[in-house]
Amino acid sequence: MNKTRLSLLAAAAVALLCGCAGIAPVEPQLQPQLQSQPLPPGMQAPERATGFAEKPGWTARKFMVAAANPLAADAGYQMLRSGGSAVDAAIAVQMVLTLVEPQSSGIGGGAFLMHFDGKTVKAFDGRETAPMAATEMLFQGANGKALSFHDGVVGGRSVGAPGVLRMLELAHKEYGRLPWAALFAPAIRLAQDGFAVSPRLHAMLQTERHLKTDPAAASYFYDRDGNPWPVGHVLKNPELANVLREVADKGGDAFYKGQIAQDIENKVKSHPRNPGLLTAADIGAYQAKVREPVCSDYRAWTVCGMPPPSSGGIAIAQLLGILENRNMRALGPKNGLMNAEAVHLFSEAGRLAYADRSRYVADTDFIPLPGNSTKALLDKTYLAGRAALIGDRSMGVAESGVPPATALALGVDTSPEFPSTSHISVVDASGNAVSMTTSIEDAFGSRQMVRGFLLNNQLTDFSFDAADANGPIANRVQPGKRPRSSMAPTLVFERGSNNLVMSTGSPGGSAIINYVGKVLIGTLDWGLDVQQAISLPNFGSRNGPTELELDRTDTALADRLKAKGHQVRMIEQTSGLQGIMRMRIGGEEVWFGGADPRREGIVKGD
Ligand code: GLU
Repeated sequence: MNKTRLSLLAAAAVALLCGCAGIAPVEPQLQPQLQSQPLPPGMQAPERATGFAEKPGWTARKFMVAAANPLAADAGYQMLRSGGSAVDAAIAVQMVLTLVEPQSSGIGGGAFLMHFDGKTVKAFDGRETAPMAATEMLFQGANGKALSFHDGVVGGRSVGAPGVLRMLELAHKEYGRLPWAALFAPAIRLAQDGFAVSPRLHAMLQTERHLKTDPAAASYFYDRDGNPWPVGHVLKNPELANVLREVADKGGDAFYKGQIAQDIENKVKSHPRNPGLLTAADIGAYQAKVREPVCSDYRAWTVCGMPPPSSGGIAIAQLLGILENRNMRALGPKNGLMNAEAVHLFSEAGRLAYADRSRYVADTDFIPLPGNSTKALLDKTYLAGRAALIGDRSMGVAESGVPPATALALGVDTSPEFPSTSHISVVDASGNAVSMTTSIEDAFGSRQMVRGFLLNNQLTDFSFDAADANGPIANRVQPGKRPRSSMAPTLVFERGSNNLVMSTGSPGGSAIINYVGKVLIGTLDWGLDVQQAISLPNFGSRNGPTELELDRTDTALADRLKAKGHQVRMIEQTSGLQGIMRMRIGGEEVWFGGADPRREGIVKGD
């Protein structure tokens, strides 16, 4: 299938699926000074594997849910409409995503969820854990050298104890309003009756090389001739329906303590070439955690993100804390074109933030941060010092800094991350909000299918190397440890208040930090609505080259950056941003939602 056709299909599918009730695409006349600014000719939507379908942004008055697939967003919407809380909606969304977006997230994976109940922000950690039998040599070959990424990923070796169900159960105990079992109904029905294979799932199956090596996955995702099911094919998953029924009836223990956990162990251990170490006992011992969110002030706002084991919250707070020393507000895009100085400053700040991330951030249950809290890395004086390193020309590669109270010598992590993952944002009618990013890591995870769902490969988010010349690497494998993540579910408030401004987040591997950073600068500094900010071309640096989004960036921008000494790389940057923000439209306060044109997400609300 040619790329144009794929892109059109993606757009058509979104349009079709958006036909369901409750959507209120924004009327253009309701958007004062916020008309979306289409990119100039030549910079328009590229035609690529996942398509780029412009999205309008949506409004609602009472509640809203944004998710990466229309069927999943609809499940969340049904919960909200029946009086469910933001957490109820997120659970229903996640169960449907397990079925309809199996390449990205599911009950075989992990997640982070930021929750606001009108007064307090809590960070729920459902990150996978390493098996108790794992050692720092997990991803090293017999010669002591790190394996290649895909040699690590495919099979049982990369599978960590799944965390998402335990985390959702924990959040539901505190913030659920509907009965647990009710939240599974839409997913069970769709799994039983079948769902239409989406253009993105089809496209990913077409280019996927490893999934067919698993007999269970091969017979589910491909026809008898080995072709991926076509777009629109009604795919049924009765095995998953049964698992979901069990979990709906008996709670998380059905997954973590019984036959399902045993089946996961059997699958992981019996892989013919790359068996793993995860046991039913590891799964049974899994605990989700509530952690202290990383909240820091940025100009007129307080931005709260996920603490370790994710690096997302700290890296975004550093990025913003560095940029706070510059006048970003004056550097917004004009006529759809990015300002070169803005991209320069953002990329340089990114270099500095990613340098600290690589050296210092890992699971704090094992490796303390400098000063034993997030304070040292986010110290305003420290960040002003880091900002002072930014000159007119690119610094190339940034060194990590020495935050106050740094005692440890640590090596630099080299773990690769490849994008899959999904983001969900929800606000409910009672003032609760959720920002949840959920992942099985690589597309289709470890490619191991058990009882209708895929197992994660999250352990490859650990550093494959255990040490370098500077010392041990913070993010090395240790038994029971959680691999460092970049996921950055984010909640934004008016500074120091309980007035929620935004819930946002994205997939994208380590580029998540730049994607979410772009949306924060786009909305907070440049006054864009969240849809416009999501739709801006992606850009930034992960302390390597300066990355600009292929086919969506004008060459003049690349030339200006090169003249400032940037090594520029044009690459596909498939974010999957979702966001909901509070906005005043036509004299009325409403929720305004945006979904990434690069994926299939939509927003629903009333
Ligand atoms: N495994 C990555 C992380 O936890 C996310 C991968 C992705 O976004 O695709 O940071």
